[in-house]
Amino acid sequence: MTASDSAGLLSPALGYIGGRWTPADDGRTFPVTDPATGKVIAEVPRMGAGETVRAIRAAEAAAPAWRALSGGERSRLLRAWAALMTESREDLARLLVREQGKPLREAAEEVTYAASFLDWFAEEGRRAYGEVIPPGLPGTRMTVVREPVGVGACITPWNFPVSMITRKVAPALAAGCPVVLKPAEQTPLCALAVCALGERAGIPAGVFNVVVGDAEDAPVIGHELTTRPEVRKVSFTGSTAVGSLLARQAAGSVKSVSLELGGNAPFIVFEDADLDLAVSAAITAKFRNAGQACIAANRFLVADAVHDTFVAALAERAGALAVGNGLDAGTDIGPLIDTAAVEKAERHIADALRRGATLVVGGGRHPLGGTYVQPTVLADCPPDAEICCEETFGPVAAVTRFSAEAGAVASANETPYGLAAYFFTRDTGRVWRVSEALQTGIVAVNTGAFSSPVVPFGGMKQSGLGREGGRQGLDDWLETKYVCQGGID
Ligand code: NAP
Repeated sequence: MTASDSAGLLSPALGYIGGRWTPADDGRTFPVTDPATGKVIAEVPRMGAGETVRAIRAAEAAAPAWRALSGGERSRLLRAWAALMTESREDLARLLVREQGKPLREAAEEVTYAASFLDWFAEEGRRAYGEVIPPGLPGTRMTVVREPVGVGACITPWNFPVSMITRKVAPALAAGCPVVLKPAEQTPLCALAVCALGERAGIPAGVFNVVVGDAEDAPVIGHELTTRPEVRKVSFTGSTAVGSLLARQAAGSVKSVSLELGGNAPFIVFEDADLDLAVSAAITAKFRNAGQACIAANRFLVADAVHDTFVAALAERAGALAVGNGLDAGTDIGPLIDTAAVEKAERHIADALRRGATLVVGGGRHPLGGTYVQPTVLADCPPDAEICCEETFGPVAAVTRFSAEAGAVASANETPYGLAAYFFTRDTGRVWRVSEALQTGIVAVNTGAFSSPVVPFGGMKQSGLGREGGRQGLDDWLETKYVCQGGID
């Protein structure tokens, strides 16, 4: 457990509880590996129930002083944290690549995106306005105030290991809620680096705690976080299966729950689309982070009239993407996170081909070996292929034809998920018609990139509950209290 070594760790490789860097009670550790090389870059503590309960108690103890600060004082600390993150952008991005695998350029963009949540909520936290209501009863005054929910538990995934943390922790802290964070087993080092920057920025002890562990420890840590009465809110980003389990556990003590879950984003190209724009957007929406994003385009639905042109252009651009170690200049696609991810991509490709799809480019594992996968395009995918029904989380684009707008929209909605949808058209009437018909929390029209701290991010159906970002992201961390004063003549 080294503080800083050739791996470029930016913090002690320890948990962080009540303002102290902490090993596991029993001293056990687990290895964190670089997906590009398979080499171990650090050993991190395997924490369990005891450490989690102490972290919850530390947060509870810190809560009164933290909520008593003015919005402006909390804002100053969050801004200092954002500034340190921006200053450390290069180092943090390199660590992110080592731990998660994405290209350095994308990692640096993620750090900027992560810092932007600290900045945004530093401002929004100052605007947790209440209301004065014209009295509905004689002799009264009626007001509504917004209060912090209380101690929060945040559980985050590995695919955006820096920004998924600040997207939760920034609104929580801005609202006045201390938190306990449990990052994914693949990416604890990014979480600890973010934490070290928060410590340097002056976030008081107990306000931000990090409990780390491997996949075997996650259910134990998660059980404490979702069942302890001191925790009043659970905010989770990850798979629908785990989100649904955590919501069930949290229901026992009626906690507030926010869930950012899996997606199966349709990407519809109508016959009147600007095809150059659609292809460029498809490259971003499908291949960023090697396709390992909840908002990654997962099903391309393309009008008959432009299908062949679109597929040819997409395949040409996809085939030219450079696969390699994220630290190498010019890399567009890094390794997938683990072998299971490679096997899922392979399974989806094989299933689609078995059902009659055509392989246009790529096709499976990359000659580099390890967990590298070739950017792949499949045409004429039947809609019942596995790849069209569940998120692939890999660099594989599956294209399906359609002949009419209504059919395309029906196919887009034919999924239990509802996070993001993309479509391309120049028809302004269709822009409104299709935006309104799509059952997703986010609709991207004529663009492949829409993420920003100023907008609400979240899904419908089995893609989740609640919103992160925007002014709505603060609401998720606030309770509404109605105060009625009587006896006023
Ligand atoms: P996952 O398996 O659900 O893991 C996510 C987090 O939950 C990790 O920290 C994991 O810990 C933890 N976890 C797993 N089982 C748990 C349990 N029983 N109790 C408590 N915590 C538990 O998801 P993933 O496969 O790593 O992440 C990819 C998924 O996240 C995809 O479905 C993707 O679409 C979704 N995602 C959604 C959004 C969004 O905003 N909607 C954003 C990013 C990703 P361990 O790693 O230690 O097992």
